[in-house]
Amino acid sequence: MIAFRLSACVLLSAAVFAANGQSHPSSPDAAHRDLDAIGAPIRPMPPDPAIAHAIAQVSPAQIQHTIATLVSFHNRSTLSSLDKDLPPNTGVLAAADWIESQFKSISAACNGCLEVHRDSFVQPPLTGPSPRVTQPTPLNNIYAILRGSDPAQASRMILVTGHYDSRNSTNEDTHAEAPGANDDASGTAVSLECARVLSKVKLPATLVFVAVAGEEQGLLGSKHLADLAKKEGWQLEAVLNNDIVGGNRTPGDKGQDAHAIRVFSENVPANAPPEEIRRILALGYESDSPSRELSRAIADAARTYTAAPLAARLDPVLEFRRDRFQRGGDHSSFNQDGFAAVRFTEWREDFNHQHQNVRDEDGVQYGDLLKYDDFDYMARVARLNAATMAELASAPPPPVNVAYPPPPRVFTIALNNTEITWEQAPDTPSGTKYEIVWRPTAAPDWSRSLLADKLTSVPEGKFSATDGKYAITIPVSKDNVIFGVRAVDAKGHRSPAVVPWPTAPQRAARPE
Ligand SMILES: [Zn+2]
Repeated sequence: MIAFRLSACVLLSAAVFAANGQSHPSSPDAAHRDLDAIGAPIRPMPPDPAIAHAIAQVSPAQIQHTIATLVSFHNRSTLSSLDKDLPPNTGVLAAADWIESQFKSISAACNGCLEVHRDSFVQPPLTGPSPRVTQPTPLNNIYAILRGSDPAQASRMILVTGHYDSRNSTNEDTHAEAPGANDDASGTAVSLECARVLSKVKLPATLVFVAVAGEEQGLLGSKHLADLAKKEGWQLEAVLNNDIVGGNRTPGDKGQDAHAIRVFSENVPANAPPEEIRRILALGYESDSPSRELSRAIADAARTYTAAPLAARLDPVLEFRRDRFQRGGDHSSFNQDGFAAVRFTEWREDFNHQHQNVRDEDGVQYGDLLKYDDFDYMARVARLNAATMAELASAPPPPVNVAYPPPPRVFTIALNNTEITWEQAPDTPSGTKYEIVWRPTAAPDWSRSLLADKLTSVPEGKFSATDGKYAITIPVSKDNVIFGVRAVDAKGHRSPAVVPWPTAPQRAARPE
């Protein structure tokens, strides 16, 4: 899918030449000649044996057990927490108790490595038309924290989440069956499975494994958690939201792709004030939010960990919008609070099996039933989540203050060369290097890279590093490409890329 998008952009470049009446050969190589002269095509990072071993432990049978147990609670509507007449072992509170017990047993198996939290709060009634919470309602977020093994990196956090609440056709119905096997026992199972396999690995930064409630009433649990993270100053570098990742396999559905997962990311950050949005548009950075750089880091992890063998292959399809058309999910709560967050969702959803009363109507089976889940698919999704979390937690922190220094006084000098400066983040491990990545402005993902210190051997290239402050000159024009800078360690772990921003206030564009 990514390859298809790249070829689409190449076609676009050829069309631009044609429109300008220029006599360039139509070969796409000609359009990218200057870009291709420097650096090299991006290669997959080398696999980390510890991470590869951990994700190999992901078990379809374990995921099936998790989902079957969640379905056994009959109806996990968040509103069922107010019910007094539920049979034993049913309802959302029974589900919360069980998830908490699962995190505790995972922790027991790693000598108490997880801090298990149950964040209970009362959701006040919602206002507005058709409010989906009409009386004060208890809500429980369950999460477990695996502290980073490196004290210098442990303040950095990577989070995976799914929502464990479910619903059927009616928001208020807390008694009829609402299995939610896909929406979203599947995401909850991914979160638990990531906790199980990653609890056995030592990773420098901190991981958080989450199951929230209240999603179906308006992202209530995730909003509470995102607000808590913001208030407490959690240094959340990435949020991976898995919602409807069951890989629905309704008999007769020919459109499903069991080796593709959609990854939705916002374009302009949801919390950007108008002046920042204007600046993003002026710079052509509408596809470079931190969430989108995170989606590119996921694609990067996939190329190393889920590309082969063929049976285990999972391709992330980068979807450049906040969520599915006019729909939402828990990652948006984190976006609203300024965190990089993306959503994973199966390739093709079946709406007969979401938010439906379980019933047979004219021979059509409705309901979000266990039998439509694809446990092998969910295992692939869990492996991609776990690999991404482990890679990001192993990589050095991304560079900070990445910038284009003010242009020279004589404006036309050196514009075909690009200068970039940055600083290493506090507590960056020694031995960290930095890699310059770039892509044509019309391309979806980074296409070329060069280690910054290699610029000394490039004609017109420069590299300097003093006290954690870096500066480079690269003979590629920033008119034609988007640049990013990412941190890499000796083993090849890579941080997400950070785009440079001009340090000086924007000049008015000059008609040159
Ligand atoms: Zn959902």
